Amino acid sequence: MSTSNSPLQPNAPRPSNFIRDIILDDLNTNKYEGRVQTRFPPEPNGYLHIGHAKAICLDFGLADEFNGHTNLRFDDTNPEKEETEYVESIMADVKWLGFHWDGLFYASDYFDQLFEWAVKLIRDGKAYVDDLSAEEIRKHRGTLTEPGTDSPYRNRTVEENLDLFERMRKGEFPDGSRVLRAKIDMASPNLNMRDPVMYRILHADHHRTGNKWCIYPMYDYAHGQSDSLERVTHSMCTLEFEDHRPLYNWFIEQLGIFPSQQIEFDRLNLTHTLLSKRKLLQLVQEKRVSGWDDPRMPTLSGIRRRGYTPEAIRNFCNSIGVSKTNGSIELAMLEHFVREDLNKRALRVMAVLRPLKVVIDNYPAAQSEEMDAINNPEDASAGSRKVPFSRVLYIEQDDFREEPPKGYFRLSPGREVRLRYAYFITCTSVVKNDAGEIIEVHCTYDPASRGGNSPDGRKVKSTIHWVSAEHAVDAEVRIYENLFSKENPSEVEDGQDVLSNLNPNSLEVISRAKIEPSMSNAEPGGRYQFERLGYFCVDPDSKPGKPVFNRTVALKDAWARVEKKQGTKR
Ligand code: ATP
Ligand code: MG
Repeated sequence: MSTSNSPLQPNAPRPSNFIRDIILDDLNTNKYEGRVQTRFPPEPNGYLHIGHAKAICLDFGLADEFNGHTNLRFDDTNPEKEETEYVESIMADVKWLGFHWDGLFYASDYFDQLFEWAVKLIRDGKAYVDDLSAEEIRKHRGTLTEPGTDSPYRNRTVEENLDLFERMRKGEFPDGSRVLRAKIDMASPNLNMRDPVMYRILHADHHRTGNKWCIYPMYDYAHGQSDSLERVTHSMCTLEFEDHRPLYNWFIEQLGIFPSQQIEFDRLNLTHTLLSKRKLLQLVQEKRVSGWDDPRMPTLSGIRRRGYTPEAIRNFCNSIGVSKTNGSIELAMLEHFVREDLNKRALRVMAVLRPLKVVIDNYPAAQSEEMDAINNPEDASAGSRKVPFSRVLYIEQDDFREEPPKGYFRLSPGREVRLRYAYFITCTSVVKNDAGEIIEVHCTYDPASRGGNSPDGRKVKSTIHWVSAEHAVDAEVRIYENLFSKENPSEVEDGQDVLSNLNPNSLEVISRAKIEPSMSNAEPGGRYQFERLGYFCVDPDSKPGKPVFNRTVALKDAWARVEKKQGTKR
């Protein structure tokens, strides 16, 4: 172990990856005078999703580790899709994840500089105004196997180009009538190098520059130069930009500006999940979900409302690593990290989702008492609370079977079980309605087993949770399943779109769950474990005395797995 404070010593040892290795190398060769400057560059055209969290953890995480800096930069070069609402949500989400940006920038801050640089490229004979239509430009581009052909406007004089570009800027031409292109190589094996478009005409208001501009730079022309202006040393982006890197470098070289370095890594894909702002926007617009923050959405605002913690997301992102090939991660792995984190911190409470009435015949009707319940067995400092107990209780319907299958050890006629924190009870009889459904279970209790153990050392095979009927609070509980049933939602039949893969049962609302009275006024955002059921988060729709909960993630239910294996589910 080293105690050196040299800047080459990372702040905290973390699992290495190829990007971290590049940074370490650059620090060793003093390539950027020991600086690490990164940026996170979202386009404000939607809410951030869990895929962005991976990029954020890399951009901010690596800079933090090497005492570097990270900018938040909005890549707002497309005025038609961008909105202030998105800018605000993105800032809130980055903060919620636990990161702090150094500089806050917008690509639109650089529009003047980018324009000047475009003029310089025209002067240097490296850019030209093209009058071909978008369709014609596409036709001239060639294919992967055939070179492109030069535009008839490619050899305009510098003077003519300067004049036309200036008039484009002044608004003399309609949308789509002309573009500014870089003059590179129409025969390049890399299609991105075949005279890419730098500017297009768009008479559209921009969320920040208003109507100042009617020409807007293309992403490829704006991105590298924005990095360079911010003196970004390591510019991480996803693999689809690998083929754009030669162009990124070309602009920087032609302009002779600070050489930021683009490094590509694999996009996060999750099973049963769509990670594309465009498709998520479609879900919102078509009201397939309640909004960007619907707890079924993979957006950071959705999973926050669902009860996921920033710590769990960061741990997940750090553990999946980065690579140079795209793959897919099991949603179950993300859920594992959520459970692991909530297990340490969520307070335990008792709630019954599907109530079945239990009457303890030998418990005095007028009596009630308070049982001591542990708030969190993983954290002694969380203390304990009192839970009221009385003659009539609710238990989970699933915790009773009139005819128990083999291996089922919960309550059934003649069987004795433990009520968590309370007594041993034995089922004596059931009451059914006209339809033959069990509506009441009668039991006797053993007063000597108070607290959950019998003095004679008698063993019971099962402990179940309960709430006292007269004290319980009604709660709404929203149970979520995967939003998409297909493991890969993008796989669709001919003529269908991804929405055909939506799971019709992704939301179940239980309107009359019963919960212990301590939860009557639970604060929205509060995260709890409902004993034996899962983790739940208080939804902002809650009203005093009528809490609403989102199921964050179920506990792993050992019995459900047995039943599934045996195919014995009722
Ligand atoms: P989307 O298709 O969802 O709109 P995008 O790449 O267009 O994604 P940007 O706003 O441009 O979204 O993304 C900002 C940063 O986040 C980029 O560096 C991008 O590469 C990264 N990013 C986006 N999606 C993912 C993902 N699924 N996994 C990892 N990084 C991602
Ligand atoms: Mg995008």
